[in-house]
Amino acid sequence: MKIIVLGTGHGTATKCYNTCFAMQNKDKYFLVDAGGGNGILRQLEKANIDVTKIESMFISHTHTDHIMGAIWIIRLIGRKYLKENYNKYFYIYGNNEVINAIKKICSVVLPEKFNELLEDKIKLIEVDTATTIKCIEKKIVFFDINAKKVKQMGFTMFLNKRDRFTFIGDEVCAENTEKVVKNSKWLFADAFMAGKEAEEYNPIKKHSHSTVEFTSELCQRLNVENVILSHTVDTDLANRKKIFTQDAKQYFDGNVFVQNDLEIIEIK
Ligand SMILES: [Zn+2]
Repeated sequence: MKIIVLGTGHGTATKCYNTCFAMQNKDKYFLVDAGGGNGILRQLEKANIDVTKIESMFISHTHTDHIMGAIWIIRLIGRKYLKENYNKYFYIYGNNEVINAIKKICSVVLPEKFNELLEDKIKLIEVDTATTIKCIEKKIVFFDINAKKVKQMGFTMFLNKRDRFTFIGDEVCAENTEKVVKNSKWLFADAFMAGKEAEEYNPIKKHSHSTVEFTSELCQRLNVENVILSHTVDTDLANRKKIFTQDAKQYFDGNVFVQNDLEIIEIK
């Protein structure tokens, strides 16, 4: 099992792609968010991910930096159906707001024949708290993260009988999300800023984005073993890994992952 990190930046980052990743089991992929544009196609190509190997895509919420790339995925896979006799179903999961937004955007920006696929080969599936699916041969349970801005979903994936990988979206962890985070072997979480910069800017108060300190303390308290910090600023990309990791280590004894775009994490 691997995580291919396709993007690591926050919404208006320009030096890296927006936060999104693919989870790989054997030759199948589960795509989590798609970033804000057709950069997703470049990232998939660079990561050597064939779009026909993506079983399904999950979009956490309707913000541009997460949902707009989904339209490009639909366009790319749509062409396979229309031009290459491709036949496998493609599943897109999201809450009601996400599914409605995808339908609306597609209806105005994509030709009719692509929109017809949304009723046929491309399945748009609404998920809510406790909705359970199987993807890349793993059980996945979705939950509402109780976001402050727009409705946003996270999920926990059962890697095996005991271990879970949990994704809590791009906001600071809400109190009633803690029960899902607790004892997760892996946590993929927002950590917008680190150290002094975070102290001065206060992203938690300004726009509900987390800090390295907050997320690391959370992991320590809730018995998480490995944390992947993402959805960050790109102000000092060259030193981000070092600065964010050092900051996290002050609060958390487990393993800290601060990735650059296109890095791969082995999930064990
Ligand atoms: Zn975002």
